[in-house]
Amino acid sequence: MKTVPEYFGSLVFDDRVMKSTLPADIYASLRKTIDEGAKLDIRVANAVADAMKDWAVANGATHYTHWFQPLTGITAEKHDSFISPSPDGGVIMEFSGKELIKGEPDASSFPSGGIRATFEARGYTAWDPTSYAFIKDKSLCIPTAFCSYSGEALDKKTPLLRSMEALNRQALRILKLFGNTDVKCVRTSVGPEQEYFLVTKEMYDKRPDLRFTGRTLFGAKPPKGQEMDDHYFGVIKPRVAAYMAELNDELWKLGILAKTEHNEVAPAQHEMAPIYSTTNIATDHNQLTMEIMQKVAAKHGLVCLLHEKPFAGVNGSGKHNNWSMATDTGVNLLSPGETPYENAQFLLFLCAVIKAVDDYQDLLRISVATAGNDHRLGANEAPPAVVSMFLGDELNAVLDAIENDTPYAGAEKKQMKLGVNVLPKFNRDTTDRNRTSPFAFTGNKFEFRMLGSSNSISCANIMLNTAVAESLKIYADRLEQAEDFESALHAMIQKTIKDHKKIIFNGNGYDDAWIKEATEERGLLNYRTTPDCIPHLLDKKNTDMLISHGVFSMTELRSRYEITLENYCKTVVIEANTMVDMAKTEISPAIAAYVADMAKAIKTKKAACEGVACGYETGIVKTLSILNDSIAMKADELADALVALQDIADIAEQGYAIRDTILVKMGELRAFVDKAETLTAKDYWPYPSYADLLFGVK
Ligand code: ADP
Ligand code: MG
Repeated sequence: MKTVPEYFGSLVFDDRVMKSTLPADIYASLRKTIDEGAKLDIRVANAVADAMKDWAVANGATHYTHWFQPLTGITAEKHDSFISPSPDGGVIMEFSGKELIKGEPDASSFPSGGIRATFEARGYTAWDPTSYAFIKDKSLCIPTAFCSYSGEALDKKTPLLRSMEALNRQALRILKLFGNTDVKCVRTSVGPEQEYFLVTKEMYDKRPDLRFTGRTLFGAKPPKGQEMDDHYFGVIKPRVAAYMAELNDELWKLGILAKTEHNEVAPAQHEMAPIYSTTNIATDHNQLTMEIMQKVAAKHGLVCLLHEKPFAGVNGSGKHNNWSMATDTGVNLLSPGETPYENAQFLLFLCAVIKAVDDYQDLLRISVATAGNDHRLGANEAPPAVVSMFLGDELNAVLDAIENDTPYAGAEKKQMKLGVNVLPKFNRDTTDRNRTSPFAFTGNKFEFRMLGSSNSISCANIMLNTAVAESLKIYADRLEQAEDFESALHAMIQKTIKDHKKIIFNGNGYDDAWIKEATEERGLLNYRTTPDCIPHLLDKKNTDMLISHGVFSMTELRSRYEITLENYCKTVVIEANTMVDMAKTEISPAIAAYVADMAKAIKTKKAACEGVACGYETGIVKTLSILNDSIAMKADELADALVALQDIADIAEQGYAIRDTILVKMGELRAFVDKAETLTAKDYWPYPSYADLLFGVK
């Protein structure tokens, strides 16, 4: 049997393969493209394509595909085989540099938010050489960006790469001011922790809500939920352990650094965290991870639920986005340094993040907005919709001292004058952890916890990178002009703390009192739902900022506004239709059948024994009959509301109507059905219960 180091990355055209299969000059030229973004000439592309094809064919591949991330949020691929006819009637395997670099999928079936006129259906995909090609299902997959013919991004990768470039540009300016001239580039890194649920395939198949929408639309609270906290880090059940073992194997073959796995708080909930990597690679890997999670589950007779809130009243699933910035020389810019000077630099980068999160709270909220995540934020152990930051006691004390020009209460009790050699060395405090903050400093990185489990991590990182780039730009503009660097630096850090300390909150983020304080006293934003926040994507302050860094064009922003709202509306409409269908065709008939049998039982009982008590049976018949009438009425109301929705043309208005009407009616219908479930004999109920689903995997 092969050991992990022997098969890790065996399906990836990685640096080891490139080095061993490419001529030295070609390899050097490709490395320059990967590391420094140098332009790739066609001679190099041809040689790389040839080597890739030989390697892929030797490893069992028959096809190749440009692999991209359209705005649907999942990945897309279109496969072409390598075959090309030879004159003798056979075939040879061919793949050219041109085919490697550029593809032309028909873009008309992907969401474009109005960018693409229907007469111009073509789009093109362009190779991202910084993310390695890999083999999946006998196809060589080439990570690519996806654009319209006029050059607008139709995907999630293009703006992400642009945002990384924007941050790189501004961070280099700052580093230069601190005398770091050997740094060639600054990259952001991400380690996304992925939560998920596992249920048995057998039960999943019996629930149209899970099949059509990924979450349960009905379901009474089980007698046992997560009250005992006995699942978190608990012993992993054999079937789940077998699943995790195969998942690791598959991820490792694809060069994904799967590292940590454990049970989560809710029953049937688990987590996988990889070791962090460069943001665009982490994004590709996370998309692949979600796909592989579902595929491996199918092999084990299980279904992996990636929905943010598969079960009402039970913890939802998130994706913690651990984020940092580092130089190509290996310095983590969010790590407190060894010397005062390094610490001044660290504090400036820290302040850049604080300012970015405060100034662009709305963009961060927008970046995680989906119909699914709306159910999760602010409920059962998930961060609220209000963005705030946690820094920890030690850093807070440092910032306090700087703000007020008072002695730092740490070990050395010195005045906090930055840059001049008195800034004390402070150690990162790894002991204090806050699990309730949407955006927590965890020693040398920030953990953004608002992302939903099914979200691509792309949008969140686009907004984060660009907002931080903007802070750094403002700092660099000022510092480059300063006569006295050190006092200008001190003044700027102090000003940032004064202006933005309202975003820093170290208490319990799950507390209702916090939401009141955040919104009423501190003036922080609280966009509860997707339709509340998405229109602010087009606020002038946001579009100006994103456009000025070259991350989005106005057309691209408008299209993303449209598509996000469209996705929201479509998702909820499908859910509502599924509810109506389930209620009318399965739930109400099941209740009616049970009531009829009960009524028959009463009759039989009375015939057998005159005057016999039938209180239980009569009570059930009465209560369930009333409930079933209410269910029928609410299902009709919901169906009517769905029809009325079709008259609303504007997508934002549709979003509001869904928030204010459809979701409310869905809640009402559900309440009646869930009540009826608790009164109906289990044999009659058409679906596996919450208890069955949550405790079904042994
Ligand atoms: P937790 O206690 O929250 O589980 P861990 O230390 O296990 O935190 O890390 C969680 C994730 O953070 C992992 O994916 C890890 O690789 C990632 N991580 C660690 N250091 C960094 C860093 N400097 N930048 C980005 N991600 C990081
Ligand atoms: Mg974590």
